[in-house]
Amino acid sequence: MQALTNRSASVDRKPMTFIERLYLWNVIKGMMITFSHIFKKKATINYPEQTRPFSPVFRGLHVLNRDEEGKERCTACGLCAVACPAEAITMEAAEREPGEEHLYREEKYAAKYEINMLRCIFCGLCEEACPKDAIYLSETFAPSNYTRKGFIYGKEELLIPNPKSEASKLAEARGNTSN
Ligand code: SF4
Ligand code: SF4
Repeated sequence: MQALTNRSASVDRKPMTFIERLYLWNVIKGMMITFSHIFKKKATINYPEQTRPFSPVFRGLHVLNRDEEGKERCTACGLCAVACPAEAITMEAAEREPGEEHLYREEKYAAKYEINMLRCIFCGLCEEACPKDAIYLSETFAPSNYTRKGFIYGKEELLIPNPKSEASKLAEARGNTSN
């Protein structure tokens, strides 16, 4: 038959030897590879009981910050939403009422604050844009969920626990389980 190119190579079809037909040697070779890995350091870890350390520049799930007295820092200025390239942040501003000074740091606060984690690309621009140190990207990530709606995080999910009234929850959120 005429070859279309000069790159064709003939296939070696020599008959298998008796040992090769038993497949025993190949099975032994495979077992040897398996056993050689038993005493090697494991490449996997027992997640979630064990976790790998994050890189110092890791940008994870957002946290809405409070000040030392537990007041919400966010003033709903909208700079984070403007800076967000994924248009993942939405908020509704509200005026602080008399008697709410212990809740909100400034006269204006975010009555509603939402981040769509399915849109977010964890670039950190919202954190950089915030003049009030109110939002930062923590060392955790958004857990899996069954619905798209479950990835829209509101203030309940984003707000850090109050250091005054929820000290133990805050310690837990920071990874200190001894308290
Ligand atoms: S990390 Fe980036 S993409 Fe995600 S909400 Fe902030 S600015 Fe938007
Ligand atoms: S998180 Fe910061 S930038 Fe965003 S609305 Fe609140 S104060 Fe403004």
